[in-house]
Amino acid sequence: MTTARPRRYDAAMGKLFETSEASDAAGGRVVAVAVSAGVWRTFDYAWPASLGEPQRGRRVRVPFGRGDRRTLGFVAETDRPPGERTLKSVAEVLEDDTQFDETLWKLGQWVSHYYLAAPGVTLSAMVPAAVGRHRPRSETVVSLKAATRRDWPGGLGAKQRKVLDELYEARKQGVEPLELSELLRHSSAGRDTVRRLAARDLVAMAERPVHLVELAGEPEPDPFELNADQHAAFETIRAKLGAGYSATLLYGVTGSGKTEVYVRCIRDVVAAGRQALLLVPEIALATQTLQRLVRRLPRVAVLHSGLSDADRAFYWRQIRTGAASVVVGPRSAVFAPARRLGLIVVDEEHEGSYKQDTAPRYHGRDVAVKRAALAGVPIVLGSATPSLESLANVRRERYDLCRLPHRVQGLPMPALGVVHLRKDMPARGDGGPGPRIELLGRTLTRKIADTLDRDEQVILLMNRRGYASHVLCPKCQWLMTCDDCTRAMVFHQATQTVVCHYCGRTASLPAACPACGGKLLLFGLGIQRIENELARKFPAAHVARMDSDTMTSPKQFQKVFDDVRSGAVDILLGTQMVAKGLDFPRVSLVGVASADTALAVDDFRASERTFQLIVQVAGRAGRAERPGEVVVQTLHEDEPAVRFATSHDYLGFAKWELPLRKEAGVPPFSRLMRFVVRHKDADRAHAGATELGRLLGELVGDAAVRRFGPQPAAVKKIRGQFRWEVQLYTDRPGAVQDRVAPHMEDLTRRVKADLYADVDPLNLL
Ligand code: ADP
Ligand code: ZN
Ligand code: ZN
Repeated sequence: MTTARPRRYDAAMGKLFETSEASDAAGGRVVAVAVSAGVWRTFDYAWPASLGEPQRGRRVRVPFGRGDRRTLGFVAETDRPPGERTLKSVAEVLEDDTQFDETLWKLGQWVSHYYLAAPGVTLSAMVPAAVGRHRPRSETVVSLKAATRRDWPGGLGAKQRKVLDELYEARKQGVEPLELSELLRHSSAGRDTVRRLAARDLVAMAERPVHLVELAGEPEPDPFELNADQHAAFETIRAKLGAGYSATLLYGVTGSGKTEVYVRCIRDVVAAGRQALLLVPEIALATQTLQRLVRRLPRVAVLHSGLSDADRAFYWRQIRTGAASVVVGPRSAVFAPARRLGLIVVDEEHEGSYKQDTAPRYHGRDVAVKRAALAGVPIVLGSATPSLESLANVRRERYDLCRLPHRVQGLPMPALGVVHLRKDMPARGDGGPGPRIELLGRTLTRKIADTLDRDEQVILLMNRRGYASHVLCPKCQWLMTCDDCTRAMVFHQATQTVVCHYCGRTASLPAACPACGGKLLLFGLGIQRIENELARKFPAAHVARMDSDTMTSPKQFQKVFDDVRSGAVDILLGTQMVAKGLDFPRVSLVGVASADTALAVDDFRASERTFQLIVQVAGRAGRAERPGEVVVQTLHEDEPAVRFATSHDYLGFAKWELPLRKEAGVPPFSRLMRFVVRHKDADRAHAGATELGRLLGELVGDAAVRRFGPQPAAVKKIRGQFRWEVQLYTDRPGAVQDRVAPHMEDLTRRVKADLYADVDPLNLL
């Protein structure tokens, strides 16, 4: 037996102990390890006695695969029978304790099985990589000494200039000094570059103690009493605290004060010595609403994506030890190691961002419900536009329903008006084939002007990025779509061709409408086009644009929110990002530039998404004394999603939509599992899908499932990979998962292409 000595704790690597890799299994323990590679099986390893007692859930590194590369893994079983073969040994243990208590371990098993994701991949998604590492005590920060660009000497290298530019930007945004590591990341310069700048006295470097994440501090007092509706909701939920598992859907219209109900429930739970988990959509973490909420709660850990690894690890530890009582975070926070859990709240439960689009493809809300059930604690799901899945769960009596039917303080719901884009558009000729129309019709333009005159603010939703110009027939509403994938195609000015942004197919611009022979319009639907139009029509207004092209860090969100709050921004123009939980008292007008962008998507949820989007963004208007007004532009005035949204009629919408879903046999009346095969060779993708279809047929039969495909995916090719899919609709998901999960690895091997499963997919492209 090799004698491996425990080594000094190495802070940088986070290793506790290290052993020689030679096997010392003889007579020793054998553990099964789930490695974080896309394999479903676990592998046996010898557990050197020098590592102490093995423990389920411990994070380890093991030699794995070609070249025995050190691979992250988790101890899945601690008492495997020693086999005949000489086993490789576990190489390192990454922390002194497991991150998984009984509930979290079971949750991990469930996620892996339910979402058909490899166990090791699932487990590693549940623990931030940096956890277990030591927290550095200080960090290097850099600030600018040469204050203006004029002070910068000539002859600087490109990297040096980039560093100075970054610092200059940071100063403008008021976030100077920058952490050295962040500066290096943004400028892709090296340490030496910064040191040389410091030597020339252009920048200053300093050590500062790592700011200790704030957990202490007295919560702020309540700003108001609960109103009668809120009080009733609070009492209903309070009665369930400490009384085992229950699930409550809190359906409260926008501005009904749901947040306040969460706050009181969470404080009750904390007062009883338990911890609470509040999940919010990622973007909401940057909003002022959330900051106000956090100040009202005791000992909060906010797990936003802008945290440094060290801060994240620190919080994780505080949550595990119980020093943090409340955890607020996006979907991944559902795995926070709160061992004295008393309550889970999922705000905006209908939000698509709760679904992860890489393995494990879990839905944060549904995992939260499972966790609550496993932990035996209540869960509250809140929304003004609950997902139809959740509403169906109310009807099946799996969830209780609790309502907040009115806005706080008797504020009225904003008045919604629908205008038909075409009728409201003055056509104007500006070259290109046919007249080009504007995006903001007469009505919306006039109302924006009025709102700005009253010194109030406008939120404008345009749910499409870029400049996209679609080819449309105004007479019969024919829209040029791609023959290959049915998505709307986009006209490119530079090449005078029409291009599909999904599959890359190009076509020439038709001379006339193929359907009716009418004259075609180039209909620009992109957000940047609106930005230009606003600049032209309202040159004095300050416009902030919020989309994934402009918002690349949490700090940028923060800045926009602050500017809207302070009044520095008059018009907030954005994609669906602006529909999420913003609460600005001076916003009195909301415009929806096109209700049709979400409708155009070929997906059974298109209507639901359109409805949610309109209601949610409309809910941003008139949240204080100023009454709100909403203008929705559309080509489809009679579309039920639009009609019900304009009367804030969620239940009406559900009553209309649910029977259609039932008839089609789609969720929430069945479960969907989607299997996607990808390969850069078209034939192999096809062959793989054919094999997959056959194998799935063998595994699950046809009794409990309806099978679609193998068929080309809606988007046939992404980044050079051809995509095929098989869709299974079933009433008995458990039975299907039981049969498929044990064979995922085998399927992957036999399909001979990249294969992934997406259970309860939200994205069907
Ligand atoms: P929701 O999440 O339901 O859209 P919020 O929780 O954001 O609504 O509350 C809307 C606004 O009403 C917030 O500015 C909040 O501070 C305020 N508010 C909440 N409850 C009350 C109350 N009982 N009395 C007065 N104002 C309230
Ligand atoms: Zn296409
Ligand atoms: Zn036509």
